[in-house]
Amino acid sequence: APPECAAPEPAPVEMEIDAAEPAPRHENGPDRRVDLSYRRHLDEKRQGIQRIQHALAQQVTASITLSQDFGALLDRQHQTLQQTNAQQNLDTSRQSLIQETEKLLDSHRRLSAKLDETHNYLRVIEADSQQLSDELTRIHLLSLTDDLTGLPNRRAFMRRLQDEVGRVQRYGNPLSLALIDLDGFKAVNDKFGHAAGDEVLRVFAGEIFSIFRHHDLVARYGGEEFAVLLPNTHIEGALRALRKVQKRAQETSFQQEGSTLPLPSFSAGLSLYRPGETPENFIQRADHAMFRAKRLGRNRIESDQADSASSNSSSTA
Ligand code: GH3
Ligand code: MG
Ligand code: MG
Repeated sequence: APPECAAPEPAPVEMEIDAAEPAPRHENGPDRRVDLSYRRHLDEKRQGIQRIQHALAQQVTASITLSQDFGALLDRQHQTLQQTNAQQNLDTSRQSLIQETEKLLDSHRRLSAKLDETHNYLRVIEADSQQLSDELTRIHLLSLTDDLTGLPNRRAFMRRLQDEVGRVQRYGNPLSLALIDLDGFKAVNDKFGHAAGDEVLRVFAGEIFSIFRHHDLVARYGGEEFAVLLPNTHIEGALRALRKVQKRAQETSFQQEGSTLPLPSFSAGLSLYRPGETPENFIQRADHAMFRAKRLGRNRIESDQADSASSNSSSTA
């Protein structure tokens, strides 16, 4: 009978993809989503299993070949013995030899069948392992991607921010950060429904923010809040980019149940990375600027005052 190959289902990994609710701001608490070290541990395990399987598969293949050679040899002996001249006074030994050889042949056939089974079994394990590997890749991607918009999520943003800050410390090129919060977004949900709110988020992610350069990182930072990292860009450049984004948002509408509706405006805060500061501080300065934009009436772009020079003359619609 073929071996029972049903591998156990991989245990569900507890995770929480960026939820619809806004993420708590600048949280430092334990991250309850896919735990990094756990994932690394799983990855190492999987690689170990793959190495063992590979070695085993090679051994089995070699055994099958050896066993086939052995079988061919036995077959030849068997034939020779059968053809031996009966008059050569070997009758008795010939008979027993034939019996012995038949037994050998039989056991060889069984061995061969066993090896074939093992080989098949290993193929199933390999398929399972591939499935596990695909699953891990999927979980990894999910843990970095926002489901609704397809944008990198806050986790992915924080990683990239660490990288970019490292680069700035080494090479000293400018790095700007924009935090963008949609204005009166709750009212969109309240008036047109949650689906309309979702559509607004998708339109911003897909159509509006595509204005940013390819190497800028646009991420969904929280519920209706986005973060944009602009490498090699001073505040003035970031401000120009945001004004273009603001203009496009004003010119864009979205469809909801047959009606054409205007997109909400947004308020944005900008900061320029200061050598030596922590990523958290860098974010906090953009955040303060964003709140100032809200306080000053919304639909505005403000930069952190220390960075702004004359550029915090925000654009109002
Ligand atoms: P403000 O101009 O001060 O930013 O006001 P606001 O209404 O945009 O901000 P507020 O924080 O009061 O409300 C944000 C709303 O965004 C509340 C929350 O339910 C909604 N929201 C968060 N995430 C999602 C989402 O994924 N989909 C939808 N449809 N709504 C979301
Ligand atoms: Mg908000
Ligand atoms: Mg808002």
